[in-house]
Amino acid sequence: MTTSHTTPWAASRLAAVRPSFIREILKVTEDPTVISFAGGLPNPDLFPLQAIEEAAARVLRDEGTQALQYSTTEGFLPLREWIAARYARRGVTVHPDDILITTGSQQGLDLIGKCFIDTGEAVMLERPGYLGAIQAFAFMEPRFCTVPLEDDGPDIDAMAATLGSDAPTVFYAVPNFQNPSGVTWSGEKRAAAAKLLEGSQTLFVEDDPYGELRFSGTSHPPVGSMLAPDRRIMLGSFSKVASPGMRVGWLVAGPALRGHLVTAKQAADLHTSTLTQRILARFLADNDLDSHIAKIREAYGHHAKVMIQAMEQYFPDDVKFTRPEGGMFLWVTLPQGCSSMDLFEKAIEAKVAFVPGAPFYVDGSGGNTLRVNFSNANEAMIEEGVRRLAGCLESYLAA
Ligand code: PMP
Repeated sequence: MTTSHTTPWAASRLAAVRPSFIREILKVTEDPTVISFAGGLPNPDLFPLQAIEEAAARVLRDEGTQALQYSTTEGFLPLREWIAARYARRGVTVHPDDILITTGSQQGLDLIGKCFIDTGEAVMLERPGYLGAIQAFAFMEPRFCTVPLEDDGPDIDAMAATLGSDAPTVFYAVPNFQNPSGVTWSGEKRAAAAKLLEGSQTLFVEDDPYGELRFSGTSHPPVGSMLAPDRRIMLGSFSKVASPGMRVGWLVAGPALRGHLVTAKQAADLHTSTLTQRILARFLADNDLDSHIAKIREAYGHHAKVMIQAMEQYFPDDVKFTRPEGGMFLWVTLPQGCSSMDLFEKAIEAKVAFVPGAPFYVDGSGGNTLRVNFSNANEAMIEEGVRRLAGCLESYLAA
């Protein structure tokens, strides 16, 4: 499916970077008769369209010339103040100066790679891990090592062993409702992981775009809040709680790390769009984000429930799946030896799509896993899609 076009000018580092497999799959699922659980899209019915329209009109009317001008690399101060106040509510002390606004949290990953990963250095990921991070870090030509993800977070013994043997420069993780698995780290595992990290030389990068989308259970503090500010970076994003198209995210880092990241961001794009930062800040000042998030949580919680019930009803017993307490994804594991790539071919014929799990592994394993999104399809489509998938599973497992 991937393109084989290349050019003699291609830098050698590109050999280590694969085009996003998910983008390729999304092309196959453009057919409107396919029920797609493949994408990672927030539900567009929940975009705060009118409120953002009003915020945009106010910004252009009241502060138009500043909004259309270049601005500082660090980002719009009222937006950074809002983010710092949001951390304070969760009991995490963050100063607005510790925050760098980024063009989506994806840019944060790119900047971290450029600043803190040298060619050949070890980078530790969860197994499975977020594909966008694998792709961003791959440009730096690191050596990846992984720690297996269990139902309640990383395998702590394996984490201790890998920190010791590979001495990774960075450990990147998504402790809340992980993309792709939907797994959330327990309070105990957070404390144990923080303790291990404290005794290591490894920089912890905590990516948390889904943390606010909890629809059951209780929240845990960020792992990064248990670590000194110069040994961790915490990433956040407005993509899943307001709008991904605005491309506004942030990172939190102590001064020793931040200086480098600001320099890298200057080189990348000078600053994130002044206009969208100001529209977002206006939107946040004039509206109650919590009541908006409550609607998203309720909808996604309902979608997840419908999907889990349908899987419990229709899936063969030897097919396992996670039961996430938030976020947008769940993770299906087929019996050992099965190939979700082969299942994918059957599923497309049956007009239902998912993402095969192998690309989320950097070690060639995970061939029997797959990612399913529940945020984007409606209730009837979720039922029908799971039923189609169950039919494919039955014929695949019988073959
Ligand atoms: N990190 C994770 C774990 C994600 O799932 C995503 C979105 N797919 C991102 C980062 C990128 O999000 P943003 O829109 O903020 O760049």
